[in-house]
Amino acid sequence: MKKTFDLICSVRELTSIFNTKTNITGLLKIVVKLVAKHMQTEACSVFLLDDSTEELVLRATAGLNPEFVGKIRLAPGEGVTGRSMKERKPINIPRGSDDPGFKHVPGMNEEQYNSILAVPILYQSEILGVLVLEDPSIDYYNSHDIKTLQAITSQLATFLENARTLLHMTTKDGKIQKKNSNLQKKFYKGKSVSEGIAIGNALYLSASNDGILLTTENLHYIETMAAFEEALEASVTQLEILQAKMDENLSEAGSLIFSSHLLMLSDDNFSGSVRDYITDGEKPSKAIIRVVNEYIELFINSKNINVQEKILDLKDLGHRMLRNLTGEMKEDGDYSGQIIIAKELMPSELVKLAAQHTEGFILYGTGSTSHISILARSLEVPVVFLTDINFFVSGYNGLLIVDAFQSNVIVDPDTKLVDTYLLNLKHLGKKETEKPDILDESITKDGRKIKVQANINILSDIRSAKEFKAEGVGLYRSEFLFLIRNNFPSEEEQYLIYRRLLEQMEDVVFRTLDIGGDKILGTADKPEDNPFMGLRGLRYSLKNQDIFMVQLRALLRAGIGYNLKILFPLVTGIEDFRKASGIVTEVIEKLHQEGIDSVKKPQIGVMIELPSAVMMVDELAEEADFLSIGTNDLVQYLLGIDRNNENIADLYSPQHPSVLRAIKEIINAALKYNCPLSVCGNAAADPDMLEYFIGAGITSFSTNHRMIQFVRRQISEMNYGHAKYFAKKSLTMRTVKDIQELIVMKRTKIQF
Ligand code: PEP
Ligand code: MG
Repeated sequence: MKKTFDLICSVRELTSIFNTKTNITGLLKIVVKLVAKHMQTEACSVFLLDDSTEELVLRATAGLNPEFVGKIRLAPGEGVTGRSMKERKPINIPRGSDDPGFKHVPGMNEEQYNSILAVPILYQSEILGVLVLEDPSIDYYNSHDIKTLQAITSQLATFLENARTLLHMTTKDGKIQKKNSNLQKKFYKGKSVSEGIAIGNALYLSASNDGILLTTENLHYIETMAAFEEALEASVTQLEILQAKMDENLSEAGSLIFSSHLLMLSDDNFSGSVRDYITDGEKPSKAIIRVVNEYIELFINSKNINVQEKILDLKDLGHRMLRNLTGEMKEDGDYSGQIIIAKELMPSELVKLAAQHTEGFILYGTGSTSHISILARSLEVPVVFLTDINFFVSGYNGLLIVDAFQSNVIVDPDTKLVDTYLLNLKHLGKKETEKPDILDESITKDGRKIKVQANINILSDIRSAKEFKAEGVGLYRSEFLFLIRNNFPSEEEQYLIYRRLLEQMEDVVFRTLDIGGDKILGTADKPEDNPFMGLRGLRYSLKNQDIFMVQLRALLRAGIGYNLKILFPLVTGIEDFRKASGIVTEVIEKLHQEGIDSVKKPQIGVMIELPSAVMMVDELAEEADFLSIGTNDLVQYLLGIDRNNENIADLYSPQHPSVLRAIKEIINAALKYNCPLSVCGNAAADPDMLEYFIGAGITSFSTNHRMIQFVRRQISEMNYGHAKYFAKKSLTMRTVKDIQELIVMKRTKIQF
């Protein structure tokens, strides 16, 4: 037990540090050590604001891994520290790992701590940083500690402001930085959409007309005809191996995802042209580049709608052949050790590049819930989105670290930092093999059983859905099958995928094609002005009935012998629901006429994700076989906030009273008409929302397959009685802030 008397008086001692002869970083180190000692806590860290990026930077720490000083950057609102800055108030967390905002940074040595106390450092009412205490004991800090730490920070504010300014102007050697507008930034803070760590050399993929051509890489080529022939042969072998692996691991990709590559290689015109140039005296590397570029130019002028992808395939092939020309590439993939940087990337390209062992991706934009992000998570490749356009035009080709746990991109890291990350990678690998306790089911402390199913995008997700004991698939996003291929798979191809899913998982809900919005097929005629309000979800299927009918035929045939469940996305109301259900009946009749008698009427569900569907939920619950709440879209459309727009991301809140009330309405309707109801949006993985849902009456969830155990653990620590009270109370609130305050009271177990 710590003693808490007289701590404020001891602050005086802090002023003595200014007598010490050291540099700014040294002074900050003394400060954090002193604060830790006086607050009788294990760890103290100071984060200072970097005005140029508006991020908090770790400047000194006692108790955390000092290697991260200067390297950890947090955006306002990010983690407990970022939140303290954004909300300009102290945040006291009894157990960090329980907090949804808690950010785990591998290698930071933070695992040992539970309690966190973050206090903003204010200087003349401007935020200049955050002081953070951590301690292994749970619920270690009390209100007296908060006041003491606030007193300490205000005493230190002037010193810290000076330190911050000086740190900003100096380089890591302490020398004053020269102003240079071309200077490459060392850190970029972005948005991670698929976690992981990648270390590798930057490789820009450009689909725009500038930089579209293949250029030479700084490699040592063997410039002989024999080496070219070997490189050609090696490329064919590698692509065949890759293709075989692809068929095994990602059957959705279709039979020949590397078809354009293989086709080019077997085309005598292509290899013949290279040979001709070599015979005429051109170096093989130059000859490859020349021929690839001749083809690219041909493709640019072609009317082929998939031209962008074909060009990237060609460049990809060119890179492969050039690398093989070094005589060093033995593996089947040639993007090992590379980080792809692209302004735009199609899902089919992501699939190909990931299959070729790309370490990680840096993409332009905000990503968040876009399909490329969802796919990246399924493919388990680290991806960070950046909005700083300079990064995408700089042409930097050196080493990068993509820390997609922290959303950081580190340019030209020193060897020490690379080693730290490599060590962490090893550590993470080990962790994966250490199996945590797996919960088979979810029951609240007071005995309420909750079903937790998996959201699945591609068949390879089944492995982890099974590992994490999903009670079926509550949402199969069938559009990924279309997006991966960038075209329309045939009925037979779809049938095989759907059948495999049914064979491997019980209780599968197949959502029909939810194309549109941010899930655009490369074959789309022209971009819509407002795609989220446009031809999306069920509207697309009703406008393109030929495509819809093929999908329904495949589903109905695959469902023979199973209890088939079909879910319609983005239903507006009764009309579109009835129209789509009518088409299902039509397709069944057609299949019967064709002699496929065993096809039965499936259960048909409606996704509630539009305000209009909420208004019509009584009728929908009466007519549909089941309902599923898509909170990602429901929040977007109820609040009128684009789910991918970073500028208003802070307003995108499932805790908005309108959302909570809408959900309650849906639950009431489902109960009234005895219609099974589930929640399948991301909000189910937010512990407070989860408690609200359960308290309001939801008993079935479908969540990202990797979140299943997290959701189960939350449920097992929950009390249904308390959840009911929390939900009831939440429904009386008028603002998001009221609800957030209620959550704080609930978490700190203050009477509410
Ligand atoms: C949703 O909108 O909540 C949902 C689950 O569907 P998607 O994220 O695929 O739009
Ligand atoms: Mg949706």
